[in-house]
Amino acid sequence: MSKYVLIEKDRCIGCGGCVAVAPHIFKFDVEGYAEVHYMEDNNRGITPIEDAEHIIDLLDAVDGCPTIAVKMQDVPFSR
Ligand code: SF4
Repeated sequence: MSKYVLIEKDRCIGCGGCVAVAPHIFKFDVEGYAEVHYMEDNNRGITPIEDAEHIIDLLDAVDGCPTIAVKMQDVPFSR
C-alpha cells in the first residue's frame, strides 16, 4: 500500500534523524528544518511512496523522530 508523508515543521527541531535514515525522502530546508523532497513533493504529502525499501526507511524515520513531526498516512494529505 502506498504511503504519504510530510513534516510538520512547527514540531521539527532539526535533529537530522529523518534525513539520515531516508535521505532520498527528506532533506533540510534553508532554515535547517526537515522537509519532504521525494519526487518534488515539496512537503505537500501528496506523492505516493510505493517502493518497499523506501517505505522501510520511511517507517524508521517516523519511529525515530523525537518530536513526532514526521506524519505518515495511507492517503494523500489535503492542506
Ligand atoms: S527526525 Fe523529526 S525533529 Fe529530527 S529533523 Fe526529522 S522531522 Fe525534524
